[in-house]
Amino acid sequence: MGRVADILRLKGSKIYSIRSDATVYEAVGAMVSHNVGSLLILDSDDVRGIITERDYLREIVLKGRTSKDTLVRDIMTIQVVCVEPNRSIDDCMAIMSTQRIRHLPVVEDGRVVGLVSIGDLVKQRAADREVEIRYLTDYITGKYPA
Ligand code: AMP
Repeated sequence: MGRVADILRLKGSKIYSIRSDATVYEAVGAMVSHNVGSLLILDSDDVRGIITERDYLREIVLKGRTSKDTLVRDIMTIQVVCVEPNRSIDDCMAIMSTQRIRHLPVVEDGRVVGLVSIGDLVKQRAADREVEIRYLTDYITGKYPA
């Protein structure tokens, strides 16, 4: 069964973060330049918040605020749901689906060690399925001795 640690092994532990006193405009710029949909707000290695594209849509666009006059701390989510590296991919998918979130920071011993997105989970799941199908095909077509 695939685990979060398997994803991080391939993807690496790079975490994109931003200060809580940065403007939302700066946060959007950072998301675009890193090509990601979320940024963490950290205090040393502790996760203090998360801001995603969806916060921009809900809290800036729809509420008629301006991103240059709004700070990250004014719209970030502070109750951040995190997972440990040994969590299964199935568990993470269930968490994302029930909580309606697409990003999960990975925390080990209270320290953030990476982040997985829904895209990472789907990609890993597809790779796992491919290995499984190849194995079963080889088994059925007699490539493995009984
Ligand atoms: P997302 O679907 O990940 O773009 O996020 C949807 C909403 O949930 C936004 O308000 C995010 O700030 C929030 N959110 C995203 N990821 C998390 C997380 N791991 N824990 C708590 N809230 C989150």
